[in-house]
Amino acid sequence: MASSSPTTLPPPPAYHTSLLAAHNCRGHIHLILGSNPLAASRATQSLAAGAKPIIITSVPAADLHHAVAAHIASGAVTHLARAYEENDLSTLGRQEVDHVVDAVFVTSSRDPIAPTVSATCKRLRIPINVVDAPALCSFSLLSVHVDGPLQIGVTTNGRGCKLASRIRREVAAALPDGLGSACATLGDVRRRIMQEDGKAKLHPSAKGAEDEGVDDSVDQTAAFNKLVTEADADAAKTRRIRWLSQICEYWPLKRLSAITDADVAAILKSYPTSTSPDLPSGATPQPRPTTGRIILAGSGPGHPDLLTQATHKAIQRADLILADKLVPAGVLDLIPRRTPVRIARKFPGNADRAQEELLQQALDGVRAGQTVLRLKQGDPFIYGRGGEEVAFFRAHGLGDRVVVLPGITSSLSAPLFAGIPATQRDVADQVLVCTGTGKKGKPPVPPEFVASRTVVFLMALHRIGGLVGELTTRVEEDGVWESDKPREGETTGRRRALWPLDTPCAVVERASCPDQRVIRTTLRFVAEAIEQEGSRPPGLLVVGRACEALFTPAEGKTWAVEDGFKGLDLDLGVELELGNGEGEGVVSEGGKDVAVTSS
Ligand code: SAH
Repeated sequence: MASSSPTTLPPPPAYHTSLLAAHNCRGHIHLILGSNPLAASRATQSLAAGAKPIIITSVPAADLHHAVAAHIASGAVTHLARAYEENDLSTLGRQEVDHVVDAVFVTSSRDPIAPTVSATCKRLRIPINVVDAPALCSFSLLSVHVDGPLQIGVTTNGRGCKLASRIRREVAAALPDGLGSACATLGDVRRRIMQEDGKAKLHPSAKGAEDEGVDDSVDQTAAFNKLVTEADADAAKTRRIRWLSQICEYWPLKRLSAITDADVAAILKSYPTSTSPDLPSGATPQPRPTTGRIILAGSGPGHPDLLTQATHKAIQRADLILADKLVPAGVLDLIPRRTPVRIARKFPGNADRAQEELLQQALDGVRAGQTVLRLKQGDPFIYGRGGEEVAFFRAHGLGDRVVVLPGITSSLSAPLFAGIPATQRDVADQVLVCTGTGKKGKPPVPPEFVASRTVVFLMALHRIGGLVGELTTRVEEDGVWESDKPREGETTGRRRALWPLDTPCAVVERASCPDQRVIRTTLRFVAEAIEQEGSRPPGLLVVGRACEALFTPAEGKTWAVEDGFKGLDLDLGVELELGNGEGEGVVSEGGKDVAVTSS
């Protein structure tokens, strides 16, 4: 369990960890002291990073290890056949850094000069690595998996390189083939879109549409909390880059790894301008299909075991699947290979257009006699536009061809997976499911405080500050807050009861997915907690006393984070256990860091 307090400094971490970084070594001078196989492998690593290694060793050329000799013979590595001298550190380097070398590798821990070299390097701020001598090092090397531009590095921070290497292998084995080349392809697409859109003289704020590509560690951009309304002009101009960023966020890795030229062409072709695609004008009479049908089905909150049998059958039998972007990867994995799948290009500012596209594709499919499955996340009728879709198909004369299948909604299951009973005797006797974002991005009227009420807000975390403000303070518009105005039949208005700032609440993200996260706090600190902890969409907010029905906050802690999903444990016959707020399932174990970069 990690927790933070805005008023006091966070407690020191339980284990010492390192700052992991991807170092740009192009053109750097690396000194390698030694002539053993490790010297050869350091030279290989150094060359792979674009550096220029210099091997210094007084071992006679004829006695050099063959791998070292091969490097030298290739001309890529400079060889100084003599003993190391202290002024090598400040004379062999690049001119632009006053000839100070960029890094030093001592490849034998028994080398008697290692302590002196280390001390001098540390004094001169030259990064130094001495094999098997952590005390003499200012940096250590990670156990690295490389696949094209993708590098994954693991360190146990001195707890054992064999263990690090094993973890690295397991992490790499869990990744689909072709992920490295997918990183390369997606990187190229991104660059092309940035260039083309740049030529179109975008508003500078369009930059925030995607990460800047320089820092892979932030999973949340500074623009995260900015509400993008559907009418946002910039959103229209940055559609393609937003779509690309959604692909990277939501497509299953397997699907990303198999990205094809046709996918790339589709991404590049999409929305170069803001004109709408041609769509039928509502109720124009169309030929009636004879066999086609549409199944509108919910796929549950995330875990594939939460799919209903009915939806599973529909997945197996459909001719065409049109999936919303939030449909979980584990569910998409169940789709037979032969079945074409299209994923909605939904992102802030493009929701209506993506919806129109999918509906048009559904109509085309049904008219061609296909069984089209509209696969939605959670339950199709809970903020899934399911009702609108049924109305759309009715308007096109296909009402009798539509079947709607329910799904487990995140609004009720995410609280459960976070150990929050939405109702409980003497705690909460009602549940309200709300949206945090209204139509056209307008804030909806906030629900009134009722002490025994549990409120679940979907689509709310990107504007958490605004939402908390509306729930807890009286905002006046022309002297009267919307919800205080007299309702029909009333002559005087009624004050809306406000939520106390110390009302317990919980942010539940990616419920039932392996990377589920729960942040438990109060309305007072929730915005700050999200700001500090970052986002892991999709997520929702649960507000009310029920959040503390099975959880007791630790004294003096303003929020607590629980990371990881324990699974359904059905195979083991073990009862489903609920998180107890005591930090079980934490994935960032002390001592083990995993770094991922796709430079
Ligand atoms: N029809 C869906 C909701 C669609 S609206 C359902 O019944 O679940 C999308 C919102 O649902 C997201 O913004 C988020 O608030 C919530 N959501 C969806 N899946 C979630 C999950 N696994 N964990 C937490 N919240 C989720």
